[in-house]
Amino acid sequence: MARLDGKVALITGAASGIGKAIAELYAQHGASVAIADIDQRAADAVAAAINASGGRAMGVAMDVSDEAAVNAGTEAVINAFGRLDVLISNAGVQIVNPIDQFAFADWKKMLAIHLDGAFLTTKAALQYMYRENAEGRSHGGIVIYMGSVHSHEASKLKSAYVTAKHGLLGLARTLAKEGAAHGVRSHVICPGFVRTPLVERQIPEQSRALGISEDAVVKDVMLKDTVDGEFTTVEDIAQTALYLATFPSAALTGQSIVVTHGWHMQ
Ligand code: NAD
Repeated sequence: MARLDGKVALITGAASGIGKAIAELYAQHGASVAIADIDQRAADAVAAAINASGGRAMGVAMDVSDEAAVNAGTEAVINAFGRLDVLISNAGVQIVNPIDQFAFADWKKMLAIHLDGAFLTTKAALQYMYRENAEGRSHGGIVIYMGSVHSHEASKLKSAYVTAKHGLLGLARTLAKEGAAHGVRSHVICPGFVRTPLVERQIPEQSRALGISEDAVVKDVMLKDTVDGEFTTVEDIAQTALYLATFPSAALTGQSIVVTHGWHMQ
């Protein structure tokens, strides 16, 4: 596996779950990693653990839906580590409800974190990635969005999430076209269910909303369409993110990579 020595990655939502696993794997492969999260204490703790095990990491306080916080946090990373090669736009939350009962405020919050967050972090990262170096060439870089199987499939109760995750495909494809001239590539990783805190919270919520047991939510809703009834793991997603960040050419750009135990096949 190619390494990320000398590279700098900014990962949002990296204080927990999938983002944290990507940060840890990237650090093991030589990258300096910025753990950007709305939960600063948790972000600092993840960064401290990576530093303690011989990696190079910093915690960054960042609400991805706040333009000023995104710009300041991104600049702080570039100042501290001297460059920015990979952006992983991963921060996310889940709110479930049927459409007719979905609070408008919840809808706006979901789109703000998932879509505004992806846009704002991308725009901030491009200020560096598009900038020309001493030889007159753009720095370039790779932007990876954390989509979902819900970038391609719909599920009941998840209108805002499904809408936002589908929207990321549009942003990634547009960036692939606009970014090519600047050496910037983009991808969407689309995981199936991964047992992170985000999913643990949904099991009792869906059980109540659908009137079925928690066991039935896992077997008959979450994993029903996988080929083997297995959860995807944070390690599976981290390995995919490593593969995309170390792929040697722009043959792969503008793609969505579905990692779901066969739930969605494209
Ligand atoms: P998680 O709850 O474990 O971690 C999410 C992190 O995002 C947390 O550390 C949280 O503090 C942070 N966060 C929330 N709002 C933020 C904001 N406004 N600004 C900055 N940080 C914020 O969740 P996870 O399962 O690791 O999810 C990460 C991403 O993966 C999300 O985009 C999610 O939609 C996506 N995803 C998850 C699954 C799954 O099954 N877990 C499947 C597909 C896609």
